[in-house]
Amino acid sequence: MARIGLVAHDEKKDELVAWALANRDKLGLHELWGTGTTGGRVVEGTGLAVTRLKSGPLGGDAQLGAMIAEGRLDALVFFVDPLAAQPHDVDIKALIRLATLYDILFAPNQQTADAVLVAI
Ligand code: PGA
Repeated sequence: MARIGLVAHDEKKDELVAWALANRDKLGLHELWGTGTTGGRVVEGTGLAVTRLKSGPLGGDAQLGAMIAEGRLDALVFFVDPLAAQPHDVDIKALIRLATLYDILFAPNQQTADAVLVAI
């Protein structure tokens, strides 16, 4: 069982929920963690159990980053919106930096997320 973080920016939340629904059975084998709004949307849209952290702009990204630094997250599926500025850009950069530094599986888009599900 892997510990997977789920995050999507607002314009990407529908895409993440659709991806999670399409991969519901596989995701159900793992422990899921999500930022507040994303986690809520995935629970609503799929019925999967997701432990919800704070909303991203209120520290949820930082909480996922801390989990990575502490060795408590194996994979991060983070659907980033490349077309919009985010108020919590520093937290997003920190999260991506920690995912890179600690060499965990990291999917910024759907095709990579599919590959992550094959890898875990
Ligand atoms: P949210 O946070 O799931 O609470 O919207 C995601 C983000 O924007 O980092």
